[in-house]
Formats: sequence, C-alpha cells, structure tokens
Amino acid sequence: MAIDISIVRAVVFDYGNTLVEFGQDKIRMYDGALAGVLERLFGPPDLEMLAAIRDRDRMAPYSGNPPEYRENRLPDITGELIRALYGRRAAPEQLDEVLRVRYEAFVELVEGADEARVLLDRLRGRYRLGLVSNYPDGAAIRASLDKVKLAEYFESVVVSGDIGYCKPHPLPFSRSAAELGVAPGEIVFVGDNWLADVQGAKRAGMQAVHLVQWPPHEVFDRAPDHFQPDAAASCLAELQTILLG
Ligand SMILES: [Mg+2]
Repeated sequence: MAIDISIVRAVVFDYGNTLVEFGQDKIRMYDGALAGVLERLFGPPDLEMLAAIRDRDRMAPYSGNPPEYRENRLPDITGELIRALYGRRAAPEQLDEVLRVRYEAFVELVEGADEARVLLDRLRGRYRLGLVSNYPDGAAIRASLDKVKLAEYFESVVVSGDIGYCKPHPLPFSRSAAELGVAPGEIVFVGDNWLADVQGAKRAGMQAVHLVQWPPHEVFDRAPDHFQPDAAASCLAELQTILLG
C-alpha cells in the first residue's frame, strides 16, 4: 500500500468528515432545526417518523440492485417528507421556508476547517486541488466553503446535487478530472467513505487515500472484490507526509 506521488498532478478531497467534521451530533442538530421549522409551520412532527425518513433519504442514492446512485432532489424529498408527516401538500411558500432552514442549518453547522487550511496551504504549490461532495444542495456546499474559507483553494468543486449522481458513480469523478484538466490516473482522491470515496475513486482509475479521522455516518460493508486504498491516514496532518514526502 503506497501512493506513487511521482505521477500525481492533482489531489481531490471529499468534504464531510474528510476536510471538516460532520458527524452524528451535527446530523442531530440539523434534524433539530428541520423539526423546528416543521413544528412552526405545521405543528409538532412525529420525531421517530422524521428520523426514519431522514435515514431513508440519506441512504436512497445507494439503494436498489444495482444501485443507480441518483442524488435526491431536495425540493422533492422535502415535499414528500411533509406529505408523509402531515398527510398534506405544502404550499409553495411553506416549502421554500423549509428549504431555507435546511440550507441555513447546514451552512451554520459546517465549521472548524483550520487543520484543512494548513494542509491545503502546503499542497497548493505542488498540486491542483479539487473537491467532490455528495450532498443534495450544491449552493449550501459552496456557501459553507466560503464561510470556513476553503473555497479559494479549489479549482474545481463538484457536488452530487448539481450533477444528479453521487459517488461512487463514475460521473462525479470524471467531472472533477475534466474540470482540473488532468487524467484520472494523475489524481489522488482522499475520503472517509469506503464505498463512495475509496471504491468510487479506484473504479474511476484514481489513487485513493482512506482517511479515518472521524467515523463515517454511512457505513458500508466491505466486499471481497473491493479495491484496497493506496494508503490510509488517521488524520489530515498525516496526508502531508503521504503527499509531500
Ligand atoms: Mg465524507
């Protein structure tokens, strides 16, 4: 297991739980904000049902046999959520209000990118840098990158919500390589998620580093035919050694 850095021209990162922590606590806080706006507009939600729908929505892109890895459309799943919880259709302005709260809650919860900036400062003189995130709201990802001062580092930001497909589908990876103007074989992909990041990047022809700094929120089984990562790192700082020698 070793990265061949002699052929690497670009480093592409996953976002949540790779560059910034976004674990169970944040998901609970996000769901709390969502429950709050639902209660304000429609009355107290059935919290168990809300949690079950949220879990199902998060896993939906990876379900099916074979999975299609289609990203959720946020207005659609939010409308469905309201219908399931309250048995009625939201008025357009109510739906807009719930979507606004979802957007703001996400941006507010993304924080703590100091360690990432230290790493990216060191890497950017030597490599092109990109980001590929699985999230249904591209605008929220971009606003959060601005907020934590990470946006300036990336020549390419690819979000599943903007292109319709989630990692490990090949499209987010090929889009990133095209935007960076390098071949997949010249990219090292860094991510926490075994299926979306490690398997996705390897299937796309990239080298992959599995970062295990924070526990991933979606846990996928490992299969005998899965690729092994080219390296593993227990924290972002360790990537300096791997990528700069
Ligand atoms: Mg992640």
